[in-house]
Formats: sequence, structure tokens, C-alpha cells
Amino acid sequence: MTETAAPATDSTAPRTRVAPSPTGDPHVGTAYMAMFDLAYARQHGGQFVLRIEDTDRNRLVEGSEQQVYDTLAWLGLVHDEGPDVGGPYAPYRQSERLDTYRPYADRLLEEGKAYHCWCSSERLKEMREKQQALKQPTGYDRLCYGKTEEDRRALPGFSENPVVRMLIPDDVELEFDDLIMGRTSAPRPDDQVILKADGFPTYHLAVVVDDHEMGITHVVRGQEWISSTPKHVLLYRWLDLEPPAFAHMPLLRDEKRAKISKRKNPWARLTWFREEGYLPEALLNFLALQGYPPIIESDGTEREVFDFAEFTERFDWSKMNKAGAVFNLDKLDWLNGQYLRELEVGDLAARILPFLQADGVLGDNPTLPELSRLKAVTELIQTRIAKLTEATALVRPFYVADDELEIADDARAGLKESAGEVLDAALAALEDIDGTLGRPDGSGVEWTATRIEEALRSSLVDGLGIKPRLAFGPVRTAISGQKVSPPLFESMEILGKDASMKRLRSLRATV
Ligand code: GLU
Repeated sequence: MTETAAPATDSTAPRTRVAPSPTGDPHVGTAYMAMFDLAYARQHGGQFVLRIEDTDRNRLVEGSEQQVYDTLAWLGLVHDEGPDVGGPYAPYRQSERLDTYRPYADRLLEEGKAYHCWCSSERLKEMREKQQALKQPTGYDRLCYGKTEEDRRALPGFSENPVVRMLIPDDVELEFDDLIMGRTSAPRPDDQVILKADGFPTYHLAVVVDDHEMGITHVVRGQEWISSTPKHVLLYRWLDLEPPAFAHMPLLRDEKRAKISKRKNPWARLTWFREEGYLPEALLNFLALQGYPPIIESDGTEREVFDFAEFTERFDWSKMNKAGAVFNLDKLDWLNGQYLRELEVGDLAARILPFLQADGVLGDNPTLPELSRLKAVTELIQTRIAKLTEATALVRPFYVADDELEIADDARAGLKESAGEVLDAALAALEDIDGTLGRPDGSGVEWTATRIEEALRSSLVDGLGIKPRLAFGPVRTAISGQKVSPPLFESMEILGKDASMKRLRSLRATV
């Protein structure tokens, strides 16, 4: 047995961990676990560890581990120890810890708490089929238990390379204490493989050994792992190790209350949220609400908006929901809007920028005037978008050349017969405004939203007697190419007189 880290009980501050398997795009559940892990660790001045569980070599997906780092960093769920940052219990990747597990398996073998199993996969399959046909519970029938290799070789279905199975006694304790669920029980397992024929440990052995060696005090994971926990508790007991506390989190569920999966639900992929333009702050708040109730204010009202810092301060296991909330994307959109409106304009502009670049609205190295225009436009759209991806359509008209502005079909179709007359009057009224310096930055320049509005109102609404909506519609279409746009007069101010007049003229020429 290797000399190991201090057992969990020696430590006063909690150590939590998240232990994803790099088998594809990171699952949103990884962030969900990580945020509760981190909140609890931070609340008590403890550490949060990231461990990569890559012992299932057939399911490894290249790049997946890096995506775990990237998405957790995007969310601000920063681990204190992990394969990328190291730490006192390195290595943190299970495939690099293979020497660690065998001594534990050997000890269990010596003490008769585990045994070699030489059954071939064909024999196991046959056994299962027979059990199913007889409507018996399926599970290993212990053919190899108590047998030497020689004994076993004499029987059918022998394979040269044995696995190691842990013995699960018939009277194994199936109940354990859980911080969320209270006293919890699981179905009786059969004798589990703990070491595979290739020498790799299975999840059960690796997770127990690593959680122990890494001094993990609290194992936080989804309720789908409840059935594994009695096996782990038994391993801790047999290895004379102090078990950690367990907290099995309510599952993330879709609208049919089924457990979410990457196959069925695109939003089970953590990268989806980033691509869709959600803010990490909003996603964290949303994930917290999947397992945790809203905050009750002193006057009894509920508040659903709370950031990670506040959550960390208030977090309490005893308040956790036992059943998961349904994953409601409308709620996420709403939350996202709440956070988006609170952002400082420059910050929001910086977050919108990569989406504009991806959509080809701006290049890789935007100029200072382009960036300053972005800030001005962002201010106009801050209350009009729920997600960062929605910015592109609203921002694009501010960056296209005036003669390349496309007029959307619905906007053109919406133009009334009076459009030509309206545009002529608008052009005449605006002509008088001094716009020589373009966007106003000081005194003496008149091309401001207020001035533009005054001029258009007096010429179109008062002068022609057209209702404001009809009067400004053609102007909006000319300026933005859209039926819906950021506030019109402010948009014209940002574009400047020259561009605004060109756009009005060019629409005029086609109606
Ligand atoms: N590797 C497991 C997973 O992918 C970890 C389960 C646990 O936290 O014990 O979810």
C-alpha cells in the first residue's frame, strides 16, 4: 500500500472535487457540480480540486479535457488543484495514477475481500441471458469465488486474463447518510469488477482510492451515482479508510422530467451556452436554482437573481432541493437579460465583440473608431437583447457601407405609399442641421438625437400630419434596413449626418 495523503478527517477545511470523464463535449452537469463544490469549499476556506477520470480508454475524446478547463474557466469556476495547475496530490489524471490502485486491489485480494474472476465475456453474456430468461435478477453468479486458477481452468468459459472483483457480502449495508437526501438506500449490487484485465481500475476502485489519497472531505455528485455509493462505503470500510461525506445532487431534468442527455438536449453541452450568447454569471445563477431554492427576503418575498458571491455566502446543504427543477430555457433567457442590463456598457461591448467578429461584422483587429462606435451602439441595445447573439442583427447596420445596406424584405414590404413623400420631407428637414463634424463631441455641433427628432417631428408629424409610427417607419428602414432597430434618432446621431443622408437618399431612389 502506498504512503498516502492525510486522511480526510485530519483536515479541518473541506476539500471538494469535480471528476469529469473526458468523453466529449463537457456536460452541463460538470459545471453544476463544480459550482456547488466551489461554493462550499470557498465558504469554509477549503480547496476545490479538478480530477480527470480517464480510465475508460475506449470512450476518450481528444480535446475534451481542454474543453473542461476552458468552460470551467469561462464560468469562473477556478480549481485550486488539477492536471493543468498541479498541486500537492499530483498527478490529477487517473491514467497517470495506475500504480496507485493495484496495491489497494492486492490488499483486498490478500484479505479475501476481492477475488480473481476468469470468466470470459461470452460466459458472462450467457449467464445474463439465462438469468433474464428465468426472470431472475441479473448479476455475477460468483463462479470464480473461492477457486484457484487451476480449479477455474477446468470449467468452461475460462479466459487467461482475469479481472479482480470485490466481494459484496449478502448482508452488505445498503444505507448511507447523505447531506441532501438524508438516510439513503440503494439496491443490492453484485460482485463488482474493480480492476480490469488490462490493469486499469474501474470507476469504483479509482474513485475511492483517489478521493482518499487526495484528502477529499465531501463528494458532491449527481443522484445517478446513488447506486454506487454503498459499494464505495464498503471499500472504505474494508480498506480502513474514513469515508468522505456524500451529497447527491438533484438531477438536471428536461421538460418531460427525464434526465437530460447530450444526445437529446443540445443544451446539455456546456459549450452550447457560450455559443448561444449566455453570460456565465447568468448560467451560474440558473444552475444554482436547479438545486437550490430562491432567496427569501426579510419581507418574505422570493428573489431568484443572486450572483455566485452571494450564493457562496448563503449556501447551506440543509436548504438543498431533493428533486431537481425542470431545465427551463425561458427562465435562463430572462436571467440572462437581468445580468446583461447590469453590465457596464464597455464590458457588454467587449462581450459582444467576439460574436460580431464571428459573424463577420467586425474584423479581427477593430480600429479605435470602430470600437468607440460599438460602445455607443451597445448603449442603445443593452435593454433590447436577451442574449449576446441577438446583438449582431442590431449592430450590423452601423458597420456596413452606406451603399451596401440591405433592406430586409419585410421592411420594404412595410413601406406605405407615402414613403417617398416622407423621405423627401425628412431629407429637407435634416439638411438644415449642421453635421459637419459628424458625431457631436462638443459645442456648436447640432447633429444630435434631440435635434434630429425635433426636425423630423416638426416636418413629418406636424408638417405633413402623418402619425409618428408611419412617419418614422420609412426613415428607420432607410437607416437600418430593418423594421425593428435600436432607437432611431440615437442611431442617426451615431451614424453621423453624411451616412444618414446617404441612406435616406438611397432608399428614396427606390420608392
Ligand atoms: N467520473 C464520474 C463522472 O463522470 C465521477 C462521478 C463522481 O463524482 O464520483 O461523473
